[in-house]
Amino acid sequence: MSPAAPPLPELGDVAAAMLDLGRELHLELSEAELADRFLTTLAGLFPHRRIALRVLDPRTREPARVYALGGELRPGLESDRVTIKESAVEKTRLKTAVAASARLRLGTRWDSPFSHVAAGYTVPLVASGELYGVLDLGYALGHDLSAVDEPLVLPVANQLALALRNQRLWRDAQGLRDFQTRLIGHANALIIGIDRSWRVTVCNRALLELTGCRRDEVVGQDLRDLLPDDQRPRLTPIIAAAMRGHTQDAVEAMIAARPRGRVRTVWSLAAIGADHGGGDRPTAEAVVAIGQDQTRLRELQDQVIQAERLATLGQLAAGVVHELNNPLTSISVYAEYLLRKAERAGTDAGDVEKLSRIGQSAQRILRFARELVQYAKPVGYEIDVVDLNAVVRQSLGFCEHLFDRGGIEVSLELDPALPPVPAIPGQLEQVLINLLTNAAHAVEGGGAVAVRTGAGPGQTVQVTVDDSGPGIAAEDRERIFEPFFTTKVDGKGTGLGLPIVKNIVEQHRGSIGVDRAPAGGARFVVTLPRQPA
Ligand code: ADP
Repeated sequence: MSPAAPPLPELGDVAAAMLDLGRELHLELSEAELADRFLTTLAGLFPHRRIALRVLDPRTREPARVYALGGELRPGLESDRVTIKESAVEKTRLKTAVAASARLRLGTRWDSPFSHVAAGYTVPLVASGELYGVLDLGYALGHDLSAVDEPLVLPVANQLALALRNQRLWRDAQGLRDFQTRLIGHANALIIGIDRSWRVTVCNRALLELTGCRRDEVVGQDLRDLLPDDQRPRLTPIIAAAMRGHTQDAVEAMIAARPRGRVRTVWSLAAIGADHGGGDRPTAEAVVAIGQDQTRLRELQDQVIQAERLATLGQLAAGVVHELNNPLTSISVYAEYLLRKAERAGTDAGDVEKLSRIGQSAQRILRFARELVQYAKPVGYEIDVVDLNAVVRQSLGFCEHLFDRGGIEVSLELDPALPPVPAIPGQLEQVLINLLTNAAHAVEGGGAVAVRTGAGPGQTVQVTVDDSGPGIAAEDRERIFEPFFTTKVDGKGTGLGLPIVKNIVEQHRGSIGVDRAPAGGARFVVTLPRQPA
């Protein structure tokens, strides 16, 4: 027995249902909720029909999402191509590119999405030429009401297409907004945005970190209240000009940075949504300012200048040492001569001692001067076969004054069988000098420094520098090799010593590790590959 003939809807019922539906729809509905509202409305208007909605994005290869009421669906429907009639493509003004997509097939017959339902039709859900899905209505055998239903289904399908389009646009806009928020949040530059009433609407993490402010201390405030008093008169007209659509570049502002005091920043200001109408009235929707902290740059420039001065000093010192060499040699030689003579003549023991001191001191100055020149000499770039023990001795000699002055006890344990390493000698010396200087600083005021060389794991050799200082706090371990990280106060540290060490060691294909020394202080271990036999 065939089922009863399905009732026919009236145009008025369709209009009333659409009005109800319109009231219920809002942008935050999920796709499933939206599909449910439409399918329930359609089922109310067109009972006893099979109804299926496939939501598609023909630009991507994603499978269709299928929602249906009544009737069993054909298996594999999600990934199957969708057939629509050529006449429907024309009627709905579907874009040719979309119509030619691999997900679609143009046909003349209905390709039923249901199992065992042979009569029905597909309505493409098109808005502004884009396809958002297809709606299928299927009829039981002998009850094909396509011709009567279709004109009444079309207005509902149109509204469904619009709702799907709005939802996708909404999702895209949300995605874009999240992306933009993340981009601004993580940008390295300082970013702040205000609306046309000067209220801060956005500001990023870099700005908050620099100023030490909380977000709620900035967002929502009038920007003019945040400007330092002494700069407000200069900056306000500049921002107002940006508001009128005139981009402002290279705007300098000193801003209060906690805890660094005032820092120099440079900004570019651009209007958003400006209609470029000119005139004096604000025309922009918003102004976005992007800034850079110049202090860091200035500090780096200062350091470069300082390094250049040191290099010049090195050259000067070389000249001075050269000049000193002859008189010092004379002092040393004549002191020696007079000493021998005084000893032979049985001169007063106190005077002999004084002559001996003169000779020793002259020798010491000579040695120190020669080492200074050696250190100041440009470092070579030639890889040599280097005796690490000799480098250690040489570097210790250079740092002797640091240890003597601090009353620091230095112990040395050099492995006499240490294999040589392929290295640039001047650079290895720099590694040792930096480590020894740090060790001396750590035990200032008394303590011990121990230097040891020996075989390392595999085909490597190691040099270890231990000290009995305070050691390195666990939270600083990761950071000590970062450029400009220093805990030394009063400008004693540059934070460049260890990064230079690490750089050199890595260029020598070695590694550097930091640990706790048995004496409680820091232990630095440099491991270098040995010279192949
Ligand atoms: P600087 O010595 O100029 O501060 P470095 O890069 O040589 O720069 O060292 C960075 C930081 O590592 C130091 O400020 C200090 O905090 C820590 N450090 C380095 N060597 C030692 C050590 N032997 N004992 C304790 N701390 C050390």
